[in-house]
Amino acid sequence: MDIKSIRSDFPLLQECIYLDSAATSLSPMPVLNAMLEFELHYRANVGRGIHRLSQVASQKYWDAHRRVSRFIGGGEGLIAFTKNTTEAIQAVATGIPFSKGDTVVSSLLEHHSNLLPWMRLKEQAGITLTLVPPTPDGNLDPDRVIEAVREGAKLVALTWVSNVTGAVTPVREISQACRKHGALFLLDGAQAVPHLAVDLASTGCDFFCFSGHKMLGPTGTGVLWMKEPLSEPLLVGGGAVETVTSEGYVLAGGYERYEAGTPNVSGFIGLGRAVEYIESIGVRSIMEHEAALTGQLLDGLRDIPAVQVLGADLADRTGVVSFNVGALKPHDVAFLLSDEADIMVRSGHHCCGPLMNYLGLPGGTVRASIGCYNSSEDVDAFLDTVNRISKVS
Ligand code: PLP
Repeated sequence: MDIKSIRSDFPLLQECIYLDSAATSLSPMPVLNAMLEFELHYRANVGRGIHRLSQVASQKYWDAHRRVSRFIGGGEGLIAFTKNTTEAIQAVATGIPFSKGDTVVSSLLEHHSNLLPWMRLKEQAGITLTLVPPTPDGNLDPDRVIEAVREGAKLVALTWVSNVTGAVTPVREISQACRKHGALFLLDGAQAVPHLAVDLASTGCDFFCFSGHKMLGPTGTGVLWMKEPLSEPLLVGGGAVETVTSEGYVLAGGYERYEAGTPNVSGFIGLGRAVEYIESIGVRSIMEHEAALTGQLLDGLRDIPAVQVLGADLADRTGVVSFNVGALKPHDVAFLLSDEADIMVRSGHHCCGPLMNYLGLPGGTVRASIGCYNSSEDVDAFLDTVNRISKVS
């Protein structure tokens, strides 16, 4: 992997050290250029127009669907573009007819976006919500999940990778249990793409939700993959219908059914280009590169006496690393890293309030997260600065 050449595609890397890819990734120049090309040469709405620009825009938008689907091994499943992971999960929560007494199994490791929709269904539809607690190092024990599934569940909704600890959930065992006990399985892939090689057939999930903006694509882009299409879309309106009369409407088939209204056309064309960019590097190369940097980062943090890492010894993990520095508040550490060395990290509860309460970390953690464009020098600079900060704490 030619890291020097990759870094030259990300102009922002000349201005800072970016270790916040779990929040949102940076976009490389080819993605930005693809969006600009749309604006300059064929800006038009998609799916409706007959004129030349609309034809070009529609074709590119359609190509982006196909490219994203192929990238995740989407096979016969259907891809719908959404704003983000949050909207994709919400589409599943509203698209399945839940009724009183149905059970959803999720976990205390989840991001709020994979908790609140189920909490709302508990309040409004009377479902039962079972939240499986994580292990002390912030992982999910598949046996605990399977135990809950055995007791009966309509849907199991879990994150593939924790956005706090980077722990990778053993999804295969869980999906097999879901099959056996007749539960649907929603996998939140927000932190998985592009850090793991995704092949949906081998995960056995029914719904896969992820964010384009965390995989080098533009903000405002996300994806919902459905093995079997939901019958009810989140939104209805223009573009999502076959026919409308004053009496009623017939919804369109295909992805159009789930994409009412004008979509983020330039964003999704950019996302298609992001997939192409990732493929040109190779997900396996990205994984190797990120694993090496994560090892360097963890080893370095272990050598700083005041630092406690959450889940330091996880066997299967990505480059999302949470830690605290002595008694310093996480926000203070993040501020000092930014102020003293232009290093961008995240701090706080990371939209995982229940997890932080469960782990007894009300102030949360500092979180550094690796992207494919990070270098060993980035990690060295980060470790030097954390070390310095830890001595004045
Ligand atoms: N799920 C996980 C595991 C996440 O890390 C995030 C965002 O950080 C989300 C869901 C929500 O993603 P978005 O803000 O793109 O909707």
